[in-house]
Parts: sequence; C-alpha cells; structure tokens
Amino acid sequence: MKKHNFYAGPSILSEYTIKNTADAVLDFAGTGLSLLEISHRSKEFVAVMDEAQALVKELLDVPSGYEVVFLGGGASLQFCMVPFNLLKKKAAYLETGTWAVNAIKEAKLFGEVDVVASSKEANFTYIPKGYTVPEDADYFHITTNNTIFGTEMRYDPDVKVPLVADMSSDIFSRPIDIAKYNIIYAGAQKNLAPAGVTIAIVREDALGHVDRAIPTMLDYRTHIKKGSMFNTPPCLPVFSALQTLKYYKQLGGVKVLEKMNIEKAAILYDEIDRNKLFKGTANVEDRSIMNVCFVMNDEYKDLEDEFIKFATSKGMVGIKGHRSVGGFRASIYNAMPKSSVEALIDTMKEFEKAH
Ligand SMILES: *Cc1c(COP(=O)(O)O)cnc(C)c1O
Repeated sequence: MKKHNFYAGPSILSEYTIKNTADAVLDFAGTGLSLLEISHRSKEFVAVMDEAQALVKELLDVPSGYEVVFLGGGASLQFCMVPFNLLKKKAAYLETGTWAVNAIKEAKLFGEVDVVASSKEANFTYIPKGYTVPEDADYFHITTNNTIFGTEMRYDPDVKVPLVADMSSDIFSRPIDIAKYNIIYAGAQKNLAPAGVTIAIVREDALGHVDRAIPTMLDYRTHIKKGSMFNTPPCLPVFSALQTLKYYKQLGGVKVLEKMNIEKAAILYDEIDRNKLFKGTANVEDRSIMNVCFVMNDEYKDLEDEFIKFATSKGMVGIKGHRSVGGFRASIYNAMPKSSVEALIDTMKEFEKAH
C-alpha cells in the first residue's frame, strides 16, 4: 500500500524526482554509467549543476548580483558560515524556535548578538511582532518556517538592515523578495532533495567585509568562484534537486505552489478547528502551511496513542509530533498531494465518530 508520508524531514519528494533519480542511478544521461559512479567533472554532471543553479534563480526570480551555491554540511553548518562571512560587529536574530536557538549559539562565537525578540517563554507558539532591529546590525536573521513548532513568517520583513534567512522548510513554497536578503539558505531534505545538500542564495557584494580569516571551505566566495565544484559536490542530491526544480517549473512555479500549499493547509486547519478531539498548537495568525502541529483536546488526551495507531493503520506515516511539542505534526511540504491531506482529514473524522 502506498503510504501517506507526513515526515518532517527527510520528507516526501515528488514521484517525478524519485523516478528520475532511480532511473539515473541505473543509467545516468545515457552515459552507460550510474549517477553514483560518475565524475562530478563529467560534462553530463556539470550540466546538471549548471541547470540546477539556473533553475533556482529562475523559480525564485533571483536578481543579478546574487549567486546560488550547493553546499555540504546541512543547514546547521550555515548557522556558523553566515556569521563567519557576514558578522563584523553585531547581528540581530529573531528567536522563533529550536533552529533559531542553534543559529544564535553559533553567531555568538563571532560577535555581539542582539536577540530582538523571542517566543521561547510560550514554547515558540507564535512569531514575535513589534520588535525593533538596531540599524547598526550587520544583518537580521530569521527562520521563516519553524519546522518543529508549526509557525511561519510568510512575508519578508521590512527592516533597515539586510535580512538573512533559514528557509530550510519553506523554500519554494511562496515567492520571495530576494533583494531584501544577503543570504538565504536551506537544507534540501524538506522541500527539494534527499539529505546531503544545502542551497544558499548569496548576495555577492555582502561578502568580503569581515576582517577575520575564513577557512577556504567555509568561505562562500570559494564556492561561488568554483560554481559549487571546489570540492566534490553531493552528486545524487544535486541531481534530485534538479528534478524537483523541473517539477516545480512544470507545475507553474512558486506562485502556483503557494496557492496549492495554502489550500492544503486550510482544509487541514479547518478540520482541526472543527473536530472536537483536536486543537492546533500554533497562534492562528502564525500558522505554518508546511508543518501543521496539533494535539488532542485535554479531555481526550489519553486517546493520543490510539489515534497514532489508527492513522498508521490507514497508511499515514510520520504524524507523531516532535518531542518538544507532543501530539501530532503533519508536514505537508510542496510535494504532498492534496489527496494525502484529505486522507488524513478523513481519518480524523472517522476517529471522531468512533469516540
Ligand atoms: C531541518 C532544519 C534545520 C537543520 O537542517 P540540517 O540540514 O539537519 O542541518 C535547520 N533549520 C530548519 C528550519 C530546519 O527545518
């Protein structure tokens, strides 16, 4: 039975991505070799890398002056790479979840960090508002989608300094005003590819202004100069990323994806709000359209395990919530078909009837 994949990451990929990757593992671009054994310097793979970079630019309408790089080390390495390359004296951070906390920890190794606002005291159930970003900050770092807590900033904030964003779990889910950002980074394993590659969209003239020495591998300029081929790139994840990007383009681009994502999330939140057994955990106006977090209403708390079992029997996978929130989390990324969301809704309705 085909499962409904609600895992938070690594997570669902389009059938198009998986099928084309599987085919290339057997025969890559008619070379008679597997994607797993091809040189990254072969003209066939260089073409993959070039097209992937070009498609990121096309889909997100990246203005000139920015470069797209494919990097190793996950989004977590970006927590240190960003301040290494950009933090001269002081940076501002918005503390909206576990990943933001991790990013702040690394930034403190490089300079003064002004945490302009935090929702920590409310277990990150909302996105702080009405904060002030100091005008002398080198950048303002945000986490646009808080994967664990199910909150999202579906806008590019207006502040007086350049933005930097961790978009690991919502990149390509909406159009972005790239010109407001110095760096956008995203681990691929939520909306793009299997684990192993991270993309970064970097404003070139934001680089080269810090006094510290930067190790070669941690300097964005190294990877920009070498077209993400300074060292051996993760060939398979990059190939898969290209397939996903092609799929997004075929669907009609990020505006179409945004509309589909809003629809999927709306029907699921409607059911959570309607169903007597469940309630959402995130502040309504900050609800994520990527990770939908919900718990059992207090009087039904003891049904939690039973619901997981019931959902599992209906082919749902990965709906158990993160341990720091509990309950349930349905990750409904770009590749998630509406039919899987509808299947989850039917499961919730059926479970309600039985209780
Ligand atoms: C998953 C995730 C990360 C961590 O990514 P790694 O690639 O495992 O380092 C960071 N930020 C956000 C928002 C995430 O969802």
